[in-house]
Amino acid sequence: MPFSKLGLHAPLVQALNELNYQQPTPIQAKAIPLVLNGKNLIAAAQTGTGKTASFVLPILQNITQQTTPLRGKRVRALVLTPTRELAQQVEQSIQDYAKHLEISSLAMVGGVDSEPQKQALIYGVDILVATPGRLLDMMYQRAVNFDQLDTLVLDEADRMLDMGFIDDITKIVDRLPEQRQSLLFSATLSKQVKQLAQTSIGEALEISL
Ligand code: AMP
Repeated sequence: MPFSKLGLHAPLVQALNELNYQQPTPIQAKAIPLVLNGKNLIAAAQTGTGKTASFVLPILQNITQQTTPLRGKRVRALVLTPTRELAQQVEQSIQDYAKHLEISSLAMVGGVDSEPQKQALIYGVDILVATPGRLLDMMYQRAVNFDQLDTLVLDEADRMLDMGFIDDITKIVDRLPEQRQSLLFSATLSKQVKQLAQTSIGEALEISL
């Protein structure tokens, strides 16, 4: 099945062709139409299954198709990841898939100077990929505004819980607009992950491979 059959528009399909992606992986075939439709999802998917594209592609399309005030000036999607490396990888994927779109993204991770991150936010970031500690720090400093946020993604939720980020995640989610789409990806859907999903995702479709 080609990517265009999932409802993805030409600039994204073109980028995928250039990356030589022949067809969607199973998680992509399941998740992309649902995310395009604004559904909340809880997805069981391991790294290596193509899970990143399964949320990045529809988020890119939704951002470019829905006009909001302050387009390009306010964060429209937030992706939380357990590690700096994963945040940087996800942000790189966004850049790759958004090659033919006007989209800006930022990996906001700890361990590096926060000034350039603040500057980028002032200039305008559509998709923010962040680790919980640094993000919370920036939220306390009022360096980031989520009043136009459409979509939250918790990526590798089980690893975030293993790394002890539950309190940070809860504090972050409590400060986001309640009217939003929420997605959770996790290798395992343990009791703790389901608990987190209940508090931060709410009513959601559950998919697995
Ligand atoms: P992920 O599971 O998101 O970490 O992706 C694993 C790897 O698969 C990444 O290097 C992607 O670039 C690649 N990938 C994702 N989707 C596809 C696809 N439909 N066809 C070929 N490669 C893909």
